[in-house]
Amino acid sequence: MDLRLTDDQELLRRSIREFAESEIRPHVREWDDAQHFPAELLPRLAALGLMGIQFPEAYGGAAMSSVDYCISIEELARVDPSVCLSVAAHNGLGAAHIAAFGTEEQKRRYLRPLAKGAFLGAFCLTEPQAGSDASNLRTRARRDGNGYVLEGTKQFVTMGANADVAIVFAVTDPQAGKRGISAFLVPTDAAGFEVARVEDKLGQRHIDAAQIRLNEVRLPGESLLGRYVGIPLFPLTVGELLGRRPRWREFRQAVAGAPPDAPKARTILERLLAFGGFPEPYVRADPEFYRVWSGLRSQLLVREDIRDASRISSLSIS
Ligand SMILES: Cc1cc2nc3c(=O)[nH]c(=O)nc-3n(C[C@H](O)[C@H](O)[C@H](O)COP(=O)(O)OP(=O)(O)OC[C@H]3O[C@@H](n4cnc5c(N)ncnc54)[C@H](O)[C@@H]3O)c2cc1C
Repeated sequence: MDLRLTDDQELLRRSIREFAESEIRPHVREWDDAQHFPAELLPRLAALGLMGIQFPEAYGGAAMSSVDYCISIEELARVDPSVCLSVAAHNGLGAAHIAAFGTEEQKRRYLRPLAKGAFLGAFCLTEPQAGSDASNLRTRARRDGNGYVLEGTKQFVTMGANADVAIVFAVTDPQAGKRGISAFLVPTDAAGFEVARVEDKLGQRHIDAAQIRLNEVRLPGESLLGRYVGIPLFPLTVGELLGRRPRWREFRQAVAGAPPDAPKARTILERLLAFGGFPEPYVRADPEFYRVWSGLRSQLLVREDIRDASRISSLSIS
């Protein structure tokens, strides 16, 4: 396997390095001392494609690869960990979940401006009593007609004080434990969305980590981004909560354990595909697995609903 960067990737690295050296490095100390979030940098980051690195061009993204993403983040981190974290959190925590699970309308309304750098995205999972134990949430979302009312406190939210839209995790079914958690899209100008505190950090001081109070925040029903749909085979939902792809072992186990034609198998594979599947070399290294996987994938790709990844979050198993 050739692990060298392509000419285009070398060019990308040089471009981001030059940008970071000339546009960021001269200001790092000043921004850090003042704890100043450099919003003025966002249009220039967007012009380089860094506000929507991996999202499709149709949604305003730069449609770059995962390697391009790593190069971009490395080069920003080399000069300024705060700007690096803002770009990584915006892309990976804020926008990526909408790209993977949003409806077409949610993507139009939020992903497009996020990918173009017109909006900033935040991700509100952690709570004072729910850090490593991420599913121990106390934030509640109760039904209110067709909508929801959110109440609770979120902690250490990167860009919580500057974001335009936040993905908020809340308990919708207290009896169902960690399976009763849903994710919502919350505009930060919604009534009751309060920045209660901004942490005075030791490092990365010019990107805020905010405590957010959700004081009876009323949301329309279409704010629901995703909910647990119950896949017992492996902890895919944990991966979704953490915004990570399933690991290779989990992926293989899910495919191997799934009867090819059952609705459950289709649902699992559809959700795996929402993460972009798995790199071909992993799959091809195992000929038997490759045969099963490529058969299932081709079945799925001809189905109309898989073309619209937005429907994946609403699929359920029978
Ligand atoms: C810079 C920064 C940005 C962040 N941005 C976001 C964000 O945008 N959105 C968001 O939702 N959250 C964010 N977080 C929160 C982050 O996800 C949590 O800090 C993290 O989940 C850890 O939780 P905690 O801080 O409560 O630590 P704790 O869970 O209290 O853990 C404290 C220590 O105990 C250890 N520990 C915990 N449980 C166990 C166990 N069972 N066995 C052994 N050891 C254990 C941990 O490894 C750790 O060393 C951010 C945090 C930081 C520092």
